[in-house]
Amino acid sequence: MALLKFATVWLSGCSGCHMSFLDLDEWLIDLASQVDFVYSPFADIKEYPEGVDLVLVEGAVNNSDNWDFIHKVRERSKILVSFGDCAVTGNVTALRNPWGSPETILQKSYIETADIHPQIPQEPGIVPTFLNRVMPVHAVVNVDVYLPGCPPDANRIRAAIEPLLRGEEPHLEGRNLIKFG
Ligand code: SF4
Repeated sequence: MALLKFATVWLSGCSGCHMSFLDLDEWLIDLASQVDFVYSPFADIKEYPEGVDLVLVEGAVNNSDNWDFIHKVRERSKILVSFGDCAVTGNVTALRNPWGSPETILQKSYIETADIHPQIPQEPGIVPTFLNRVMPVHAVVNVDVYLPGCPPDANRIRAAIEPLLRGEEPHLEGRNLIKFG
């Protein structure tokens, strides 16, 4: 029987959700025996493949690269899990939204508060451009499962993934499993 194709994706987040994924410890060995790990920041795979069965998406949609990538991920994936508070609500990544336009935050970060060589990084084709506002993943593409937490702890991640591996819908209920922050 073909193994389920499993992926994890990192948009604009701090990678803390992926660090929490590593906290699954020895259960990762069980997981590895049940899935074909086809794409992840943990692996040096350049292209997000077609036909992914299950993907965890960390981070919010913040820039042009995130925008293009999440559309590709959605097109090529069956079940998309919004993984962590930045993906679910925007969370920390969206803290720039109240400042208004991206130009305002770039000016403050790279010009007004710079000690040496004030300059805004820009290189077309290399440095992605900010979107006007940071958005949670579901504001851009359809999401199948929401997994909140900053980060979701390992038990919560496992509670979401295990049913999905069996082809069942996860029931994340109660403060331990649906807690934000
Ligand atoms: S939800 Fe928290 S841990 Fe996850 S990427 Fe965002 S800030 Fe980092």
